[in-house]
Amino acid sequence: QALIGFIGLGNMGAHMARNLIKKGHELVVFDVNTQSLNELAKFGAKVAESPADLASKTQNIITMLPSHPHVNEVFLAKNGILAAVQKSTRCIDCSTIDIEACKRIAKLCSEKSIYFNDAPVSGGVTGAENATLTFMVGAQKEDFEVIKPFLECMGKNVVHAGDVGHGLAAKICNNMLLGISMIGVAETMNLGLSLGLDKHVLAGILNTSSGRCWSSEVYNPVPGVVEGVPPSKNYEGGFQSGLMAKDLSLAQNASVETQSATPMGSMAYNFYKQMSNQGFFKKDFGYAYEFLRTKKD
Ligand code: NAD
Repeated sequence: QALIGFIGLGNMGAHMARNLIKKGHELVVFDVNTQSLNELAKFGAKVAESPADLASKTQNIITMLPSHPHVNEVFLAKNGILAAVQKSTRCIDCSTIDIEACKRIAKLCSEKSIYFNDAPVSGGVTGAENATLTFMVGAQKEDFEVIKPFLECMGKNVVHAGDVGHGLAAKICNNMLLGISMIGVAETMNLGLSLGLDKHVLAGILNTSSGRCWSSEVYNPVPGVVEGVPPSKNYEGGFQSGLMAKDLSLAQNASVETQSATPMGSMAYNFYKQMSNQGFFKKDFGYAYEFLRTKKD
């Protein structure tokens, strides 16, 4: 088993780090949030003082941060990873970030003989907790084979998407579809309930009919339809609406660059941006359902 450095112990990272410990790895962790650090320390992890301190202690580093400015800071700041990194260290970034930002960091890493691969995830907080995430990996084939066993401690589908940046390309596409489908389910449930249907009856019909999707079945946005997911916990602790807006903005940038038509992606981006700007940035993106209802009132 290895000594693994883990940076970013938020809604996803904390569960992923715990799963690595459960599989027998030793962990050294860092986060700017001391409470998250203390909780992992109680679970057996060692605590680093900075990303540089962490990099001086291990040659395997996983990052799970909100977006590319945070990843840039963790790698490039004065006490960032690159300030103290050891040769041949393997860095795996599981954050969803801009493809170009990922390639820039990968280039800086390769200049220092460091490996850098993108391995964003799908499966939500439940997937992170149950170690059933899907990883979409951007790496050369031989590097993919080396990092795969680490990722298998945290997920059940580890897919080689292509070279560096392709994991993110797949993730950005997935989340554009997810953002759109969640709004569709929120609208549908809202309409059905307004027509007098029972929420369980309607969800049960959708989930055995052609409208079925992850947003209707696993993370249904109506509180109480699925127990244990963020919509049933006051939309706390899930996938923040602000991060969904961030992912949809990445998709919009990519669609401009590649001249691909994404009209629904553009509408979904504006929807979550509005929701985030109106004070719901931290609410799970299933809050789309409540947001639509407040519009009706
Ligand atoms: P989060 O905001 O809950 O966690 C991010 C963590 O990073 C926090 O603990 C924060 O304190 C820490 N952090 C921020 N800046 C830091 C810095 N400079 N140094 C050290 N730590 C720092 O976010 P999350 O929901 O865990 O998501 C992480 C990434 O995974 C995002 O890119 C997100 O888009 C993606 N993602 C999230 C979900 C989900 O369901 N939550 C699902 C798939 C992918």
